[in-house]
Amino acid sequence: MLFVLKPGVPRPKIDEFTAKIEARGFKTFLSTGTEHTVVCLIGNTATIDLDTVVQTNVIVEYGKRVTEPYKAVNRTVHPEDTVVNAGGVLFGTGMFQVISGPCSVESEEQIIAVAKSVKASGATLLRGGAFKPRTSPYAFMGLQEEGLRLLLEAKRETGLPVVTEVMNQTQLLLFEEIDVIQIGARNMQNFDLLREVGRMNKPVLLKRGLANTLEELLMSAEYILSEGNSQVILCERGIRTFEPATRNTLDLSAVPLLKQKTHLPIIVDPSHAAGLRGLVAPLARAAVAVGADGLMIETHNDPAQALCDGAQSLDLTEFGILMEDLKRRVAFEGKRMGTAV
Ligand code: PEP
Ligand code: MN
Repeated sequence: MLFVLKPGVPRPKIDEFTAKIEARGFKTFLSTGTEHTVVCLIGNTATIDLDTVVQTNVIVEYGKRVTEPYKAVNRTVHPEDTVVNAGGVLFGTGMFQVISGPCSVESEEQIIAVAKSVKASGATLLRGGAFKPRTSPYAFMGLQEEGLRLLLEAKRETGLPVVTEVMNQTQLLLFEEIDVIQIGARNMQNFDLLREVGRMNKPVLLKRGLANTLEELLMSAEYILSEGNSQVILCERGIRTFEPATRNTLDLSAVPLLKQKTHLPIIVDPSHAAGLRGLVAPLARAAVAVGADGLMIETHNDPAQALCDGAQSLDLTEFGILMEDLKRRVAFEGKRMGTAV
């Protein structure tokens, strides 16, 4: 971290400033130019709030971080790709995995029919919400505990590992047999929840918040890793912009950028990004092209009757056709399409 001082600051004021910083346990050195003096800090500056220093020291013009505030998720600290083992299905290492299933578990017949079909089409994990974060308190909230039970029933029927969202810490007790815990976009900065899943020995699918930067996403992943759990998959699922034509705007540049910044696997959810079923296939193809490690795609046996997110759900035939197309594209990118365990 460094602070550029205003021109012409007298030496005693500079010494006062560096003494204050050194009192907090950092070493400093000065770089003196013709107009400006720069104070460079050495040490773990994660505890320093840059804006506070700038705003509360009148001699400082601006400050800059030279290293990222995240460590455990940083590729410079850990250059090798992390491989996440999700119930035997591997994310990272040149594999490409497709998670598919309905927005929410609605009935035994529904989840089992969808599970069997998406497995036959090549999906390697089954998704299905039991606890649903809904904008309206009057909307369908998911089948809750019963939803988890039915999801596990579908896992037993098909052998597919399952991914489902947790909304708070108290629910975690019910997640023992769930293979991957999803932290949804609305909970990306629920720091207590992040710490709690960080203490668990289970893979976590961390979705990017509706209005969060990539650095904030990485800092949230850092919470999980800093508690000891390195099995984290990041998910780009669209962010809120000024464009109302789609539910969110899929930030595809997030994928290659995150690949540079972190060793964690990254998947894309085109369903929640677009909110429109007609856009799911083209965005899924784009995700393959930009180097994603997988996809999460919402599917339903009868989208018109879905209790949640029917507009963005592919029917089972459409999903099958998309998967055939993706298999070729994944191979072209030099990755291997996962096969069911
Ligand atoms: C979901 O995957 O069901 C979901 C609610 O997604 P998000 O948190 O990305 O909105
Ligand atoms: Mn949904």
